[in-house]
Amino acid sequence: MKTLESLISINLDYIILGLIVVFFTLEQVLGTQFKFNRRLHHLSHNFLMYAVLFVLNLFWAGVVVFTVNWFTEHQLGLLYLVEIPLWVTFLLGIAVYDLSSYWFHRAAHFLPLVWRFHRVHHSDTTMDSTTFLRGHPLETMFWFGFSSIVASAVFGLDLKTLGIYYLILIPMLFLEHANFKYPKWLDKTLGLIITTPNLHKVHHEQDEYYTNSNYADIFIFWDRLFGTFKHKPVEDITFGLQEFNAPEKQTFWYLIISPFLNIKRIPSEGKNK
Ligand SMILES: [Zn+2]
Ligand SMILES: [Zn+2]
Repeated sequence: MKTLESLISINLDYIILGLIVVFFTLEQVLGTQFKFNRRLHHLSHNFLMYAVLFVLNLFWAGVVVFTVNWFTEHQLGLLYLVEIPLWVTFLLGIAVYDLSSYWFHRAAHFLPLVWRFHRVHHSDTTMDSTTFLRGHPLETMFWFGFSSIVASAVFGLDLKTLGIYYLILIPMLFLEHANFKYPKWLDKTLGLIITTPNLHKVHHEQDEYYTNSNYADIFIFWDRLFGTFKHKPVEDITFGLQEFNAPEKQTFWYLIISPFLNIKRIPSEGKNK
């Protein structure tokens, strides 16, 4: 328990910075799935998104922590009605946070106003681990803040469970976007329950038929359950969004203002159906 508590107390930003260094180096050294140049340029533009999020979180993370603590003090939520072992609470808690994030993600694809922000994450035409950092800071802060608050309130999850969830989620998201060659058997075994990297990459396919699938961050099980699971061989995937294909639309400045621009979604021709 002591080890767990000291793990949770580590600042998540240190973990993210450490993972950026580790993944960036490994992708440089090991055999990769896709070739692409100008990785430092790609990293710097994606990193700026995270830098803005870091500044916003100086205020916002405090709001989320305060709210979740308030629910705990008032013993709000379904899990207070039953008695279950602590490890079951943690396991259920992670599944519930993931479920809440699944619905927030699904809504982001269908509510036009939210899509304006969410498309920033989908705009990347080349993928490596730093694509995880490419999310509009306003979207990332509201998505994860509110999905954590909603799940905590409904199910009665405390800060400790939330801490464990993020400790699992963040490395998973690095792995899912990383430019490594992942074996196909992984998708046929672990991929029955867990979102494997190749399965998340299907979500980054330009063709809208695939973009609107595989929403879950940790448990692909949610997509299988709610009928949004799709598969496509990773070597056939074209990343990004057609309307963001031009190099000048891949910059930090363009992406940060893009939610406020009227950019028409270029529909897929349905060739992949
Ligand atoms: Zn998405
Ligand atoms: Zn992604």
